[in-house]
Amino acid sequence: MEKTTTLNNGVEMPLVGYGVFQVNPGETERCVSDALSVGYRAIDTAQAYYNEEGVGNAWKKSGISRDELFLTTKVWISNYEGKKAAESIDLSLRKLQTDYIDLLLLHQNFGDCYNAYRAMEDALKAGKVRAIGVSNFYFDRFTDIADAMDIKPAINQIEAHVFCPQKKMQKVASKYGTKLTAWGPLAEGRNGIFTHPLLSEIGTRYGKTAAQIALRYLTQQDIIIIPKSTHKERMIQNLDTLDFELSDNEMAEISRLDMGHPLIVNFFDGEARMGLQQILKRF
Ligand code: NAP
Repeated sequence: MEKTTTLNNGVEMPLVGYGVFQVNPGETERCVSDALSVGYRAIDTAQAYYNEEGVGNAWKKSGISRDELFLTTKVWISNYEGKKAAESIDLSLRKLQTDYIDLLLLHQNFGDCYNAYRAMEDALKAGKVRAIGVSNFYFDRFTDIADAMDIKPAINQIEAHVFCPQKKMQKVASKYGTKLTAWGPLAEGRNGIFTHPLLSEIGTRYGKTAAQIALRYLTQQDIIIIPKSTHKERMIQNLDTLDFELSDNEMAEISRLDMGHPLIVNFFDGEARMGLQQILKRF
């Protein structure tokens, strides 16, 4: 079964990666070393996670060649304006100890997104980046930027899981050849996902856990996943999700869990969004 997916510029990206949000900087090197040792070859970090150095250190010590590894990072909104965007990309390169980033994303849809996106386009043209895209861009913001920019986003990384598989966003994104990466693919443990009766019951048919069924449901729709765990055995479990195929019936049953809205971040509530914008700008 396929372990990678092809982005709209021909770049191959692993379907399963390892995310390091909320992995504290002191623990990141150990966690990423564990993830690489159990077979992950894609790591998702961000300027705002303050742990790009840990990712770079773990890779350097792993002995894995650069072309075997897929590194994603994200430009933070406080770096969107003016020259800061380009400078922050160079700083990410230094922290990751690499001369190119495989995938670079705008982290949030606020602020001077167009300036920052142009800086990412320039970085792509300069060979510092292999693919660019966005994160947390919903319908109008996504369409605006995808229509306006020369280089169409390769990825939109948004909250997606069995309780919100982003069916509408999948359709909108596909018009630009943009693929989705699911952040929070395990819903950060919400809604009893790890013991969910339907997911557990389907899991018994394949010798898999509810978490593994939840992850496979996404990759089977060609959605990239970047589950986070600080535990090695869970890292192994989350990676071991591509060796079986859910039936059409099972996919339809799981689709009925769709609540029609994200659980973790609510970008559609104006007041919440304004509050979030203020908090995020403080970083
Ligand atoms: P997640 O992967 O859905 O869930 C992580 C939680 O699930 C952790 O508490 C982890 O606990 C637990 N867990 C993981 N695997 C498990 C398993 N097999 N069984 C039981 N528990 C398990 O949530 P996330 O970390 O928010 O999202 C994943 C990645 O997406 C992040 O690390 C980050 O790279 C990215 N992300 C991006 C954005 C964005 O704005 N672009 C936002 C959030 C996240 P332990 O660590 O204790 O195992």
